[in-house]
Formats: sequence, C-alpha cells, structure tokens
Amino acid sequence: MKNLTKNILIVVVIFLTMSALFSLYSSPSKSYEETDMGTFINQLNNEQVESVTVRIDKLEVVLKDKKKELVNKEGADTFSNIIKNYGVDTEKIKNVKIDIRENEGAGFWISALLPFLLPFLIIAVFLYFMMRQVQGANSKAMSFGQSRAREVSPEEKKNKITFKDVAGVKEAKIELLEIVDFLKNPKKFIALGARIPKGVLLVGAPGTGKTLLARAVAGEAEVPFFNISGSEFVEMFVGVGASRVRDLFKKAKRSSPCIVFIDELDAVGRQRGAGMGGSNDEREQTLNQILVEMDGFDVNTNIIIMAATNRPDILDVALLRPGRFDRRVVLDMPDINDRLEILKVHSKYKPIDQNFDLRIIAERTPGFSGADLANLLNEAAILTARLDKKIIGKEEVLESIEKVLLGPERKSHILSEKEKKITAYHEAGHALVSHMLPNTDPVRKISIISRGRAAGYTLKLPETDKYMTARQEIVEELSVLLAGYVAEKVVFGDITTGASNDLKKATDITKNIITQFGMSEKLGPRTYGERHEMIFLGREITEQRDYSEKIAEQIDIEISKTIANAQNKAHEILTKERTMLDTIANLLLEKETLDREQFEALFAKKINKI
Ligand code: ADP
Ligand code: MG
Ligand code: ZN
Repeated sequence: MKNLTKNILIVVVIFLTMSALFSLYSSPSKSYEETDMGTFINQLNNEQVESVTVRIDKLEVVLKDKKKELVNKEGADTFSNIIKNYGVDTEKIKNVKIDIRENEGAGFWISALLPFLLPFLIIAVFLYFMMRQVQGANSKAMSFGQSRAREVSPEEKKNKITFKDVAGVKEAKIELLEIVDFLKNPKKFIALGARIPKGVLLVGAPGTGKTLLARAVAGEAEVPFFNISGSEFVEMFVGVGASRVRDLFKKAKRSSPCIVFIDELDAVGRQRGAGMGGSNDEREQTLNQILVEMDGFDVNTNIIIMAATNRPDILDVALLRPGRFDRRVVLDMPDINDRLEILKVHSKYKPIDQNFDLRIIAERTPGFSGADLANLLNEAAILTARLDKKIIGKEEVLESIEKVLLGPERKSHILSEKEKKITAYHEAGHALVSHMLPNTDPVRKISIISRGRAAGYTLKLPETDKYMTARQEIVEELSVLLAGYVAEKVVFGDITTGASNDLKKATDITKNIITQFGMSEKLGPRTYGERHEMIFLGREITEQRDYSEKIAEQIDIEISKTIANAQNKAHEILTKERTMLDTIANLLLEKETLDREQFEALFAKKINKI
C-alpha cells in the first residue's frame, strides 16, 4: 500500500517535470521559420514587419507578406533593449504591432523558477521518502542501533491475549496478578511505600507458555508491551546490542507505565566471562547495558521488565540480584488436569467430536508441554482434513500423539521379510520384558511400521505424572532397553545395527545412575565429574574430571556390571518365556501394530489355559 502511493507520487512528479519542459521547448508551431537576429533587424529597418509577439526567449514575427518567423533571444533581453542595442530607428517600428507576452502564464514562472527549484524539489522528495523508510518498522537499513522491539499497544483488540487463554499454571498467574494490579493502579502501592519488583523472571521448560503468559499480563494490564527476543540484541555488528538496549528503554520510558519483555534472556544474560568466541564481548556489553538501565530508573518509573528463560542456571548472577530480576515465576510442566485445560483452550475453535472426552487424551500425554498439546490438536485437525472428515474424532487425536512423539509413519519404507521378522522379535522382546517386570510403564503400542528413524517401536508411557524415578525403575528400564538386542541374539544368534540406538541410550542411563544419581552401592552417594557448557562454535557439554584415575576405573567397572546385570535379567525372561515371545512376534508380523488391549489379551489367554 505504501509502495503504491510512493510509486504514484514519483510518476506524477516525473510527468509534471516532463510536461513543463515539453511545453517550454515545443510551443512554436511548425509554420514558423527560424531566422537570426540580424535578419530580423534588417527586416525591421526595411519596414517589412507587420507584427511582433515578444515571448520570454523568442520573438514571433509576422512579415507583411504573411511569412512567419521565429527569432531566438536571451531570456533577460527585453524587446526595447534589443531595439536600443541594434540602433533601430523608433520611427521604423511605429507601425509594427507589438504584443508583449513575456510574463504570461505558468510557463513563465515555471521556466523562471524551475531551474532553481528543481534540485530542491528532488532533494525534498528524496528526503521525505528516506525519513519514512527509517521510521518504518521493517526498514533494515539505517536502523542498526534502533531496538527491534515490537510494541503491542493496549488498544489492539485483535490478538489480545488474557489470562483466560493460558490454561493451568495457577501459581504463576496469581503471582503475576500482583504485577497487573500494580500497573493498573500504581498509586495504591506507592502510597504504602511498597517497592514493586522491577524485574520478573519467567522460568520454565520450552513450550510451557512463558511467552504466552507474558503477553497475557500485558493484555490484562492494558498497558503498552514491548517485546524483544534476547537473540535480537546480539547481531553481527559490534555495539549494536548495547545501543538497542538504550533505545528500547528510551521508548519504554516515554510510554510508561508499560511492560518490557525480553524473551530468551539466556541469549544475552549468560554468565559473563564464560565461553569463547567473537560475539562474547558484544554479549557482555549488551548485558551490562541492561543492568545499567535497570538500575537507572527509580520507583516512580512504572516500568516492569519481564524476561523468560529455560536455563536459569546459566544466567549471570548480577541479573538475579535484588532490584533486578528478583522475582521468579516458575512454570511447571502441565499435570493431567492442566493438560485437560490446555486441550480445552486449544479445541475451542476446532470442531471436536462431542462424545469424546478430552480427558482420555490428557491421560495419555504425560510429559507433553503446552506447545506439544497445541501441536497435537493441530496435527489432528490436519489429519482429519486429509481424511475428508468434518469433525475431529478420537482416532485422529490418538494417532497424532504418536506422530508428535515419534515423527510421521513412513509407509514408503518397506522392510524385507527378513528385516520384518527381526524387527518383530526385537520389539516383542522390549514389550515382553516390560510386561514381566513389575516397575515399568505399561506398553501402549507395539509396531513394526517404521516411524521417523526407527524401524519399529514399542510405545510406553507412565500411568500418571512422574516427578521422581526410583533406582529399581531405572534398572528395570535398562533391561527393557536391552531386551531388543537380547531377543535378536536369542532368536537369531546374531545382532543387527537396529539395536545401536537402544545401546547408546542404555549406556547413557547407566552412566547417570552411577555418576550423577549416586545410585551405585560401591561408589556411594556422590556425583562424579563436573559438567560445563562450552560456547565455542555451537554448544558442547564438556565434563571435567574431579576424581582420580582409580575411581575412573571403578566407574567403568560399575557401568559394565550394571549393564551386564540388566542384560542377564532380560535374557532370563526371554528364554523362560520363549513361547510368549514367538506368539507376540508372530501376531506382530500378521497385524503390524498391536495396541495395549490386544497385547494384554495375549497374557489373559495364557492364564486361562492354566
Ligand atoms: P515458551 O515461550 O515457554 O517456550 P510459548 O509461550 O511460546 O512457550 O508456547 C508455545 C505455544 O504453546 C503457545 O503459543 C500456546 O499455543 C501453547 N501453550 C503453551 N502453554 C500453554 C498454556 N498453559 N495454555 C494454553 N496454551 C499453551
Ligand atoms: Mg518462548
Ligand atoms: Zn529397540
């Protein structure tokens, strides 16, 4: 739209200039014949001239024999001057009709002024567009140092988000309600001498709704909301970050009371002096500037700074001091009731089958974040559309859970007969061992259809939300992980590369049991190795050894022993229940997927037989 008016303006200006120039130089019609001044003076002296029309830069002459002539002259030369200069006798021109048209019409003014005004006009137009460019929010040039903060003003009703749109996170909402109250009614608090926190830090795992909640606070408080992401402060150009911070706070002060929201604070707020690389100095300067600005405004400024991070542990301690981000609001992963609420919020504008209780979905999605759940319903809607249905049903949502967890099914990936058989036994091994051990999560689904990068999968999810895991559970989980590998060995006497992912996971878990959770009898309740995050061309976790060579050897021995024990357990189960293993594998080969009911029915039958 902007571009259109701009283009029209440019065309109009060009058109006007062109037509002005054109009219200046093209007015004489073709019937005039050009002659020089000398000939004209001679004609005057010989009394051959009938009439003369004097124009700015030329004389239009009509001779007595009706011939028409055109004589060019200097613009500044008047007719009387010419007569005088050439010494024409005044008697000779008494009978000549003289028509002076020098100052007539716009043409005169344009030709007199345009040469002076045109450059100014062009410069003015140019400047005008440039100013607009700079002011425009999406202009990239000329605005390095300006903050890229997006401002959401309270008048904006369209995308307004309030606490209603954020499900769950009750404690966080209560805490933020106080902030909203303050922004709406600062005098009440100041009268009591209360110092309102300047900075509120939202802490939570990715997808728990930190960004959403911050926008909801702005929506509730009905104050301007400046939103910028930490990574936007830090760019290629040195010094940009700090000047952006300055600019952001300048803008904010102008429209206080307001909220400044810095998303992904860890991008700039990482501990100073840590890491390496060129962008580091830049980041430190940006961080320093944020600290300076936060200290700079007093109690009456009425600006509240909110920030979000999923890594509070790596933030610079200076940020967390009183008077800065001293208020922490923690957003937990949603529990079953929260998940139900989130599902309800996101299904509000989707046609969902009335007969199906969303609680079923909430039950089956422990560990899903708010973002995962939003994604889940979106996937279900896409699937429904693909099936040409009008209403999203239970099957579509259930199917989407697996898609969100494991990636899409790969129907095109065809396994050979042999591969299929190996995969069937591998997955049957996982499922059977999981079923036989008392402390594992129930098997929800077994499949030999490839999904994402896995050839097949056994889906297990906890019955309820889990916050802690006991040692016995982890050890049994290890046996389940190794069961695929063991099943291949027991049945085929050989192993395939398909188990490598399981083995990697098993090794990592074992290492954690011993070095991080202090679950090894022999090495006792302490952690081994200090983990650091290094920022050098990407992210890397390095481990610093804080134990002796002797301990390192013991750790290795313990890891091997733990894995061997878990493997033995799996082996024991699989050889004892060999017939069951065959039954599951054969049924899998036939049906390709088994759900929880089908799987558990196999065991019920067996009990009936006995
Ligand atoms: P974060 O910033 O914590 O990574 P976001 O706020 O960006 O997460 O959340 C991403 C999306 O997930 C939101 O836009 C919203 O659709 C959904 N979501 C997350 N948490 C909730 C919640 N508690 N209630 C409703 N929707 C949520
Ligand atoms: Mg976010
Ligand atoms: Zn496996």
